[in-house]
Amino acid sequence: MNLDLVYRQAVLSVAGNPRVEALIKGRARGLVRRYVAGETLEEALGVAEALEAQGVHAILALLGEMVRSEAEARAFQAGILELVRAVASRPWPKYVSLKLTQLGLDLSEDLALELMRGILREAEPRGVFVRLDMEDSPRVEATLRLYKALREEGFSQVGIVLQSYLYRTEKDLLDLLPYRPNLRLVKGAYREPKEVAFPDKRLIDAEYLHLGKLALKEGLYVAFATHDPRIIAELKRYTEAMGIPRSRFEFQFLYGVRPEEQKRLAREGYTVRAYVPYGRDWYPYLTRRIAERPENLFLVLRSLVSG
Ligand SMILES: Cc1cc2nc3c(=O)[nH]c(=O)nc-3n(C[C@H](O)[C@H](O)[C@H](O)COP(=O)(O)OP(=O)(O)OC[C@H]3O[C@@H](n4cnc5c(N)ncnc54)[C@H](O)[C@@H]3O)c2cc1C
Repeated sequence: MNLDLVYRQAVLSVAGNPRVEALIKGRARGLVRRYVAGETLEEALGVAEALEAQGVHAILALLGEMVRSEAEARAFQAGILELVRAVASRPWPKYVSLKLTQLGLDLSEDLALELMRGILREAEPRGVFVRLDMEDSPRVEATLRLYKALREEGFSQVGIVLQSYLYRTEKDLLDLLPYRPNLRLVKGAYREPKEVAFPDKRLIDAEYLHLGKLALKEGLYVAFATHDPRIIAELKRYTEAMGIPRSRFEFQFLYGVRPEEQKRLAREGYTVRAYVPYGRDWYPYLTRRIAERPENLFLVLRSLVSG
């Protein structure tokens, strides 16, 4: 396993420790401000408005995951419905993202399916697109099953995510082809054992390009969610060389990451979206951002020394 991945696995494994959590929560305010739009929907809409003025579209996401009770899942559904209605009233592209464990996937697939139906019944007539984020490997099978069930029930404004670090993903992509999914492709953000995920960053990057090109060749619409300059450059070159129009794909970034590049790509005529998370439940999201980037851990450690 190379060093990048050793670092990531180490951060994600200590992040669950209550003392580490208390420490990061107390000391990471600056980082939270960089990656999270705010605690309220109003703050997130303000950020979306500002991005829109720069030609970057927002993907709004109410933070929350792995709920432990039905009441919590229903409360998140209510929050997401409020979000859907709020974005529906805005003039810009209407796009939200959510996690199925936020809607109780770990408690019952039926519950998550029922809550998803409720969200899509509100979203679809309002022209709001709903992306199902992909979580860690034990949840992949159920997430794919629910996505397919929703499509079979006739919902169309719903998209899926696949992760290039998992060995299984090429097969998942091929299995999804009959559904003509709107696909977001990512490298993957969770701590995964080497039995299920490539233990080498170079392999994950190569697989990303392989899967992305395969999805394009199969005629899918692909959202390339990566900040990786080499991958973005190669995808620009490849789509140009193959005559694949820009209406067939887009680039997605996280709010706060490479903002200048987001604007530059938008100016070049590509569709660019930024994932704008908001809400009080920001801790797991932030730990994944720290795990992706050692500099973020140094910022937290520096605030410990200086404070
Ligand atoms: C819109 C969007 C949605 C996502 N949805 C999911 C999902 O549903 N499921 C999932 O598992 N993962 C998701 N991810 C996260 C993804 O899996 C990666 O963990 C994350 O994007 C980092 O990988 P990378 O492709 O940017 O490449 P990396 O190789 O990690 O990074 C490439 C370069 O990007 C920059 N960079 C990367 N991360 C950061 C950061 N946190 N802060 C500052 N600079 C950074 C650095 O310059 C780095 O050298 C999503 C990412 C995006 C952009």
